[in-house]
Amino acid sequence: MKSQNSKITHLRRLVAIMTSVVGLAVVLLTYLQVEWDRRESLRQHVADMENLSTALTRQAESTIRDAHAVLLGMQRKLQVSGYAPESLNEVLEVARAQSSVLTDVQGFTVLSAEGRPLITTVPNPITTYSAQDREYFLIQRNNQASGLYIGPPVQSRMSGEWVISLTLRLSDANGEFRGVVMATLLVQHFVDFYQTIDLGSQGVIGLVKRDGTLLVRSLESVQNAGLNMSKSPVLRAVNEQGVTRGNMVLTAMIDGVKRIYGFDTSDEYPILVAASRGEEEAMAAWRDRSLQNWSLAAGVLVILFSMGWLIGRALGRQGRMEARLQSMHRDLALANHALEIMAGEDALTGLANRRRLDETLRVAFQSAAAQGQPLSFVLLDVDYFKRFNDQYGHPAGDEVLKEVAAVLKRHAKRSADTTARYGGEELALVLPGAESTSAMAVAERIRADVEALAIVNEGSPYARLTLSVGVATCVPGRDMPEPADLVAAADVALYVAKGEGRNRVILGKNPA
Ligand code: GH3
Ligand code: MG
Ligand code: MG
Repeated sequence: MKSQNSKITHLRRLVAIMTSVVGLAVVLLTYLQVEWDRRESLRQHVADMENLSTALTRQAESTIRDAHAVLLGMQRKLQVSGYAPESLNEVLEVARAQSSVLTDVQGFTVLSAEGRPLITTVPNPITTYSAQDREYFLIQRNNQASGLYIGPPVQSRMSGEWVISLTLRLSDANGEFRGVVMATLLVQHFVDFYQTIDLGSQGVIGLVKRDGTLLVRSLESVQNAGLNMSKSPVLRAVNEQGVTRGNMVLTAMIDGVKRIYGFDTSDEYPILVAASRGEEEAMAAWRDRSLQNWSLAAGVLVILFSMGWLIGRALGRQGRMEARLQSMHRDLALANHALEIMAGEDALTGLANRRRLDETLRVAFQSAAAQGQPLSFVLLDVDYFKRFNDQYGHPAGDEVLKEVAAVLKRHAKRSADTTARYGGEELALVLPGAESTSAMAVAERIRADVEALAIVNEGSPYARLTLSVGVATCVPGRDMPEPADLVAAADVALYVAKGEGRNRVILGKNPA
């Protein structure tokens, strides 16, 4: 019963542990799945941005290259044919023809050494200005650019539009400055083109000079035209670490939005393109999936823990029932014991119990005293009974006690003789009127009969079950004042029998 209860406690613990382990596994697997998905999704976006930035770098390169080729032709022609009106006219005609094909080019212009426009293909131009103070003009006049110079975006004085200038220096035979040939690219063309690419509401494409000057930004471009971006991590990676193509996830300097960037630099011109998507937008699909996965996991956990809880509760209930049954069993045993005592009979052996024995002995002692008759008391104890129990088990021990009790009963021939269970594996026999010789004879027969049962007891040196017996006889009142004295005398004799090697009968000394 007790082990049953601890088995239930054990089971409950097992259920709790298993529920926790499975729950933990669910959480861990979900985390791994979500994390793997995040990396995969990020990797995909990064690859997309890198590829896009490469394509757009090639596009910008080729636009610049086309204009560059025309500018080289114009420069060469002017340096060979000079700056007379006919020569300028020829140059203008050729430039016009080329400009009509190169749609990204706003126009080609020749500026004099004073910065005044000499000829231009820009439609409806304002020609009354001087470009003397423009950055590109100063750089070309001071001979600081080795070839094509890409200027920062400016609002054209000729047309009012935002343009990027590409310039080459015009020199005479002595290397004296004669002006500038210039192609202007419309910023808006780039913006329009970039906006045809769907990068979500937060995606941005930026065309930047390697020195950090922002040329085109696909979002609100004009406000940021010419912004210096040289401190941005992308440009630092390019200029300080020599990275030519790569990716980054970072928060933009301009608007504080976190983006996934891909970038690529041109080998031909000092420019690079960075293409990006807003991290939040790009990862939105992943976020949805991870929410789904976590919800699913939460559902599984709820079911798992509910089941664990239900099983635990059922086991707890069973445990409590088991405990109640146990206590009922104990109560019943106690009640049985009480009944047994009242009945005066020993339940196992059917002999008189100790209470009845004491009573019988008291009465026999009195009547023997009154009649001056002898009274004998025999105390029998099973030898090595503990070893018997240990070896064959308690139930087998009980059976043996019953058999010994049966032998004892057989030898209580007279009606006044009383057989009793003195306690444990000790039995007693009261023989009113018996002298010590006849009591000894009876005791010896009982001992011999029990030995003859040949019940194997390997723990005993006799290898079988035996009895030690103590016998005491007296004439009550004359030899001994109390029944207890008679019992004590038999007990002493029994002790002697044990001491002398067991399996024997000893007669106690009469003190009188
Ligand atoms: P000794 O020869 O000295 O008498 O050795 P022993 O082992 O018989 O004596 P001990 O007093 O050491 O042990 C008595 C044993 O009797 C211990 C107890 O378990 C067993 N016993 C007492 N009452 C019962 C009973 O009702 N049924 C069973 N099966 N065993 C009992
Ligand atoms: Mg004993
Ligand atoms: Mg014993």
